[in-house]
Amino acid sequence: MVDVAIIGSGIAGLSAALEAKAKGKSVVVVSKNYPTQSQSSMAQGGINASLDPNDSVQAHIQDTLRSSQGLASKEVVEFVCNEAPQAIAWLDSLGTPFSRKEDKIALRRLGGAKAPRACYAQDYTGLKILHTLYDNCLKEGVEFLHERFLLNVIVEDNVAKGVTLLDIRTSQVEQLLAKAVVLATGGFGKIYGAFSTNGFGSYGEGLAAAMRAGAKLSDLEFVQFHPTALAKSAILISEAARGAGAKLIDSSGKRFCNELATRDELSRAIWQKLESGEKVFLDMRELGEEFIARELPQERKLAIIYEGIDPVKEPVPIRPAAHYSMGGIDVDIDGKSSIKALFACGECANAKLHGANRLGGNSLLETVVLGRRTGGAAAEIENEVAQKEYERTKIDRNFIKAVFGLPNQIDFMDRQEFLSKLLYNNVGIIREERAMKGVLSVIRQHQRELAFMGIRDKSPLYNTELVHFLEYGNIIELAEAMVVVAIQRNESRGAHFRKDYPEQNDAFKAHSIVWKEDGVLCADFKG
Ligand SMILES: Cc1cc2nc3c(=O)[nH]c(=O)nc-3n(C[C@H](O)[C@H](O)[C@H](O)COP(=O)(O)OP(=O)(O)OC[C@H]3O[C@@H](n4cnc5c(N)ncnc54)[C@H](O)[C@@H]3O)c2cc1C
Repeated sequence: MVDVAIIGSGIAGLSAALEAKAKGKSVVVVSKNYPTQSQSSMAQGGINASLDPNDSVQAHIQDTLRSSQGLASKEVVEFVCNEAPQAIAWLDSLGTPFSRKEDKIALRRLGGAKAPRACYAQDYTGLKILHTLYDNCLKEGVEFLHERFLLNVIVEDNVAKGVTLLDIRTSQVEQLLAKAVVLATGGFGKIYGAFSTNGFGSYGEGLAAAMRAGAKLSDLEFVQFHPTALAKSAILISEAARGAGAKLIDSSGKRFCNELATRDELSRAIWQKLESGEKVFLDMRELGEEFIARELPQERKLAIIYEGIDPVKEPVPIRPAAHYSMGGIDVDIDGKSSIKALFACGECANAKLHGANRLGGNSLLETVVLGRRTGGAAAEIENEVAQKEYERTKIDRNFIKAVFGLPNQIDFMDRQEFLSKLLYNNVGIIREERAMKGVLSVIRQHQRELAFMGIRDKSPLYNTELVHFLEYGNIIELAEAMVVVAIQRNESRGAHFRKDYPEQNDAFKAHSIVWKEDGVLCADFKG
């Protein structure tokens, strides 16, 4: 038994771990891969803090609130923006190698921000922060359980007691008991499959597990599409490029939008061009080879390797791709969910910092500021946890055994690929009711077919097919919830754009909530 079990070793999980450890608690961080493989490592552009003399915390707050389209919590936005300079100082003191200009941490401007505000480490910001936090966790004696897949949260009388885990190396089910559980499992952008900038870990499994445990999820319909992913591979080309002056051009080489508008506006403008049969390109040529080599070396490499185009010489074909989930496990500013002793932070949580549209650079900031606050709050929990095998553990053990016996008459990988395309085209940048209802019935059909799917590989050792199958089960559970609330929000707001309801409607200035009662999905709106 531990004091605090943290599931997920991205920047949110590691920030929470360091804070809980600093409070003298025993802390275990669990992850289905290794910390340095977390999606946080992919973050390129930067982490926001108002450090520029022409910027202010107030401006940061205002930009964040404006972008949220009325759905952010003022309390959370003010807290996070106020804490931002201190968060950068903390990361700096731990050893994060931020890029510097004349001895000060360098800043770049990202979309929707009135000033240069994103602190960065070339275009490897997430990777450098993640490595720094991991080093510090090891130094402070945080324990790690790698290659463990979260199955479920153990809950009794609405109090979390721990989690059940699949040991990926052996396919054995284990229980990890804890006084407090923190979910930091990242977002769910990868349910859009090849149409997403996200890594293979981001299927929203923490959200699905929280929902099965009885927790509430909120604002799932708000999925951010990043305007500039590489056309062939959906790999991200960071907003840092546009912040530095790169242009968006159409097939005839003409600019057609303000490159520093918010991501939702740009994605729609690009989508409309693509739908009309044009191509869209990011033109970085004016930035020059020296600037690109110094500030954006990763972007150049990615474009050369995955698109076969050197951005120094030619415009790069791009398209929008699913990038970030604003919604998540519904939590307060301390990361508390609707289940006692169950916390969440980072992209899997919805503390209402971003509302209907996230600003670039605010997510890494959230993972650090609210990750630390959540870790601190979890460390305060004194929860009675009986040392026994819980019913949940027995059920999950039987479930895993049963998966090995499933008939595998239907290929779940085919179904997953099919669903990701449907989601991108119909529950993506531009949505409408009829098409979304069609997707919902497909998802429900997939749920009914699950018992006829299964795995070919019957080995218990490193059975990655088993892991993918479990991920797929989570995908169709979460996708159903997301599509249900997307259908119910009859308005356009931020990242949720409805062709059949193109206007914002104040009757919907509320958070969508979903939860399960006796396995049945319920949904509502709350102000
Ligand atoms: C390409 C890209 C670039 C980005 N650039 C920026 C940027 O410049 N600035 C910015 O602010 N934001 C950026 N973002 C967003 C930001 O990186 C993420 O929102 C943030 O890193 C999420 O961190 P996290 O700790 O919440 O989750 P993650 O880093 O996604 O970590 C989740 C962890 O949970 C684990 N996990 C998941 N499911 C399970 C399971 N079932 N069992 C066990 N473990 C599990 C994973 O293995 C991983 O360790 C970018 C995102 C992408 C994809």
